[in-house]
Amino acid sequence: MQIFPTISDMRAASRAVLHAGKRLGLVPTMGALHEGHLSLIRAAKSQCDAVAASIFVNPLQFGPNEDLAKYPRDFDRDCELLKKEGVDFLFAPSVEEMYPAGAVTHVTVEGLSDKLCGKSRPGHFRGVTTVVSKLFHIVEPDVAFFGQKDAAQLAIIRRMVRDLNFPVEIEACPIIRESDGLAMSSRNAYLNAQERKAALALYRALKRVQELFDQGERNAATLADAGKRVFKEEKSARLDYLEIVDPDSLEALTEVKKTALAAVAGFVGTTRLIDNVVLSGEENAFR
Ligand code: AMP
Repeated sequence: MQIFPTISDMRAASRAVLHAGKRLGLVPTMGALHEGHLSLIRAAKSQCDAVAASIFVNPLQFGPNEDLAKYPRDFDRDCELLKKEGVDFLFAPSVEEMYPAGAVTHVTVEGLSDKLCGKSRPGHFRGVTTVVSKLFHIVEPDVAFFGQKDAAQLAIIRRMVRDLNFPVEIEACPIIRESDGLAMSSRNAYLNAQERKAALALYRALKRVQELFDQGERNAATLADAGKRVFKEEKSARLDYLEIVDPDSLEALTEVKKTALAAVAGFVGTTRLIDNVVLSGEENAFR
């Protein structure tokens, strides 16, 4: 695996792949890798001739009182994991490389960026779309892989790609969970044993929503309220939101007609966690 701290070296390597007529996949991450990330790498390996991963803890997507400074970082372990998966290129730039002094240009997906996590984390999605735009320009992948775990991020990136004609396909990969249902997340590393148990409130709430949906309930408020009640049974967790929204526009729904996204965010101690399930006639993500 070749490791590139600079934009010019990353670009030279990806251009060589593209000029050879090969299909290049990109998996953007913030590191502290787990099986969720590795599932994206495996999807990329199965669909592409060459795979680039990136590790960059993007300051632009963290609010002033968020966990940027303490975000888990283990570069050597991440490199070992990526090597084992057969990743060809790792782009791991410094903050100065990505945001040289005077960088003031941002990409904003109006409307969608204020929904779900965008409400409680102002500027978060603007940070995401700005860094993902830069990664797309630097790496020029044919296809980029994102996790359904960050469903709002996925919807926003899809819209950005459509609106700005990025020549890249976006592939969504399913949520990888621990055996008890907790969605894998780098932030799970913050949880102590008691918080780890409390964190299951998110999964339990979504499970309740899914059950009711499977029983035929289609009223969004009824579905959301039932999930919120289950979440609130866990006294050590604090709900940020549980919403039933359109998976593309992220607009709140009153009734689930075809497909809906049930998305939840909550705090366990100071750790903010998110999870979601897609409600649709055809699939049950928890089955
Ligand atoms: P992050 O390092 O948290 O920015 O995540 C990098 C990519 O991994 C994003 O596309 C996430 O959606 C994806 N990801 C994170 N956790 C999971 C998971 N549990 N299952 C599937 N994909 C995930």
